[in-house]
Amino acid sequence: MNSKIYESDFLVIGSGIAGLSFAIKASESGTVNIVTKKKDTDSNTNYAQGGISSVLADDDSFDNHIDDTIIAGNFLSKKSAVEVLVKNGPERIRELIEWGAEFSFKNGPDGKSFDLGREGGHSHNRIVHAMDLTGKIVEEALLKKAAEITSIKMFEDHTAVDLLTQHQLGEKKCGNDRNTTCYGAYVLENETKSVDIFKAAVTIIATGGAGNVYLHTTNPSIATGDGIAMAYRAGALVGDMEFMQFHPTAFYEEVQDGRALLISEAVRGEGALLYNSKGERFMEGVHDLKELAPRDIVARAIDKELKRLGDKHVFLDISFKDPDFLIKRFPFIYAMCLKKGVDFTKEPIPVVPAAHYLCGGIITDLNARSSIENLYVAGESACTGVHGANRLASNSLLEALVFSHQAFLHSSGYVKKNKGRTILPDFPKWDKEGTFDYEEWVLIKHDINEIKSLMWDYVGIVRSNLRLDRAYRRILFLEEEISDYYRRSTISSKLVQLRNMVTTAKLIICGAMTRKESRGLHFNTDYPDINDDMKKCAVQCSNAGIQMKNLDDIRF
Ligand SMILES: Cc1cc2nc3c(=O)[nH]c(=O)nc-3n(C[C@H](O)[C@H](O)[C@H](O)COP(=O)(O)OP(=O)(O)OC[C@H]3O[C@@H](n4cnc5c(N)ncnc54)[C@H](O)[C@@H]3O)c2cc1C
Repeated sequence: MNSKIYESDFLVIGSGIAGLSFAIKASESGTVNIVTKKKDTDSNTNYAQGGISSVLADDDSFDNHIDDTIIAGNFLSKKSAVEVLVKNGPERIRELIEWGAEFSFKNGPDGKSFDLGREGGHSHNRIVHAMDLTGKIVEEALLKKAAEITSIKMFEDHTAVDLLTQHQLGEKKCGNDRNTTCYGAYVLENETKSVDIFKAAVTIIATGGAGNVYLHTTNPSIATGDGIAMAYRAGALVGDMEFMQFHPTAFYEEVQDGRALLISEAVRGEGALLYNSKGERFMEGVHDLKELAPRDIVARAIDKELKRLGDKHVFLDISFKDPDFLIKRFPFIYAMCLKKGVDFTKEPIPVVPAAHYLCGGIITDLNARSSIENLYVAGESACTGVHGANRLASNSLLEALVFSHQAFLHSSGYVKKNKGRTILPDFPKWDKEGTFDYEEWVLIKHDINEIKSLMWDYVGIVRSNLRLDRAYRRILFLEEEISDYYRRSTISSKLVQLRNMVTTAKLIICGAMTRKESRGLHFNTDYPDINDDMKKCAVQCSNAGIQMKNLDDIRF
């Protein structure tokens, strides 16, 4: 196979909000190659419904948004990162508008003020949205803008396999310090199966989340934790992986094929109420904010009701509101529910929790730098420290925008300073040759299902030591089996994803086993309380080991 060599100033892995917004800015300072494993629109971003949080209302303040984020994060958030997030918000939203994103405004089409929504855990209305299609509108605007820029080249159906570091050159073993430098990535052309070398002075991982390691998820199929697993293999620090957010309200279907339809938090923001099968409003008495309590609390309350009554779902009801308003406010959710046989203007929606958002990821500093030199991370694959033990609704699109901007500010300085001087090493051609065996592929599919089921059953909303131990033993076995397939088989996008899924699942389990307390999204029945000794501590993993580290002591 004739593999190719590409070179650019910036390599962007992923074409969601983080990758595209970084690429648009970086193109001012140099050439940009974007690799994306399916079509350019295939991303979590494209499915975001609710909106982007930002302080834009007169009665709101940065302090309010900072406090809400830290409270939702169960006091585990890194305050300096939250301040960067919140204070940069309004400027990043204005930038999106300049790039063509059309958000919903009040007072008719010429209205000048944002139609700011409210979501769980927010003390004020601050959710900028485009009806219930925010992600799609943003993704379209970013893709259009990127397509107009000649120094940006998009490579669709290209799957990044591994990072290029001195590891591949046989130099010193990677560690969790700045001795390791990233020079780009090995990237698979899905169609031809050629593995090409994409060299770059600066690489940014923007590969999104990992909802697909769970059986039920709101995430599209691209979310398999690829960037996190790649960086971990290269020696980067990864943290907070135990904090997987389960969205409380995904549409319940008897037979779930693929991603579950999300019923946005904004529906509860407009007044929707939760009922169990007995018609009881079970959120009363659970939290002062009732249905608008933070997601972890609502998801656990639903889980409890399902276990208590032996039901498969609960009900979300907004049928008491004006139908015209509902259809106008939630056109996408309305159409999708109708397709599934539920008219929510007339009847309640059956809902269950589903894996939705990974708060952890590759640990980054305030400039979005990872612990590996010249490797930046933004969006859902990053662990900036913003979300702590639980993400506040609509803070993720904002985080992706803000920290890809931080990455741009920092990395463009490096590229400009070293223009013409950066000599990237020559990397060996991809040499992994295997033989395809059809029988093996049946087993691989089975492995995917096994990972998803064991994560759902043992590492879900409510955990215990017994279940985590079981999960750990099984994941180690699967990991060994999958590395063996990987060595022996012809490379393909599916195999690359499977290898990354097992690593990501293992990291989530390791995080969950190490955090011996219940905080935010991580609930262990053997340690049901918060442990103050673990306040401000992150579970940090790298291929050099696992450590419980004080957030303020994480430096690279
Ligand atoms: C249904 C749903 C609704 C949501 N609603 C909201 C909301 O209202 N507000 C909010 O703030 N957040 C919301 N979120 C979360 C938010 O959408 C995501 O956190 C955010 O879009 C992540 O952006 P990203 O750029 O990091 O990743 P993504 O948008 O997921 O993009 C990742 C990109 O990386 C590519 N990729 C992955 N692996 C590889 C690889 N190996 N090689 C090459 N390319 C690769 C993918 O193909 C994709 O292009 C929602 C999420 C979902 C699923």
